[in-house]
Amino acid sequence: MDHARLRDGLLRPSRTHLAEARELLAESTAPDTVWRTLMGHDPRRTFLHGSRCTKCRGGGTEGGYHDSDLTEWGPDAWTCGRCRATGLDPSSPTLPEAAEQHVLTIATAPEAARQAEENAWRIATILEPWGVPHPERLVWRAAGRTYLPGLPDPFQPTVNLLFFTHWKADLDSVGKEFLKFFEGSPTHLNPHHHARNQLAWETAAQRGYTVPEKIVHYNGEKDMSTHPLVGRPFSELPNPYTPLLDIWRLGFVFEGITKGVIQLYAAK
Ligand SMILES: [Zn+2]
Repeated sequence: MDHARLRDGLLRPSRTHLAEARELLAESTAPDTVWRTLMGHDPRRTFLHGSRCTKCRGGGTEGGYHDSDLTEWGPDAWTCGRCRATGLDPSSPTLPEAAEQHVLTIATAPEAARQAEENAWRIATILEPWGVPHPERLVWRAAGRTYLPGLPDPFQPTVNLLFFTHWKADLDSVGKEFLKFFEGSPTHLNPHHHARNQLAWETAAQRGYTVPEKIVHYNGEKDMSTHPLVGRPFSELPNPYTPLLDIWRLGFVFEGITKGVIQLYAAK
């Protein structure tokens, strides 16, 4: 797996069609028409038309005190509670038509964007037996910032508990080098954790581990006996972190699946 491309291409898709898109927009072609020219049509696709959060003015953070003595004040001490650190007004609408922001940041890299979508749908299919209902739509967001993106509940907490608590003695050292590898990347991005999980999954598969009936953790046990995948070896289960890393590598971000909608993000 090419991790150098993952680090270097972070949030920077290959925008091969930027000149063409700009030319069409300059001719007053409607943004959604330009989108369809470059990306084609997919009825499952929607677009978040983001406006700036009025509380944090789009920054996603608020000033506050870092410590309980109230002496260390910082301008970015807290994430904004109104927009959940995205910098976008929560009332921003999701529409079937693309706006200029989506054309310039996503459709200008049509090959990468289509591959990102394919990987996102693949993730959704992989996660279904883990208890994540299969989504029906996909929404693209091209404004604000992404904050702690990743795979959805109940999948991600279960797997993290399994790999790094239940199997801590066996897997905790796996992929620790990634935490250093991504040094300098914004801390509110998660590619290093996803790279580590991808490798931990591969390691579990190579060692013949199966999904256990219970996960032992610090506060007790999580009963997995009724889970549909109990007893299945990891070597037979597709690794969702592989397509997740592919999306990072393409320069886009898989933010999650919420209420039947896949969320994809593109930075400016
Ligand atoms: Zn805000």
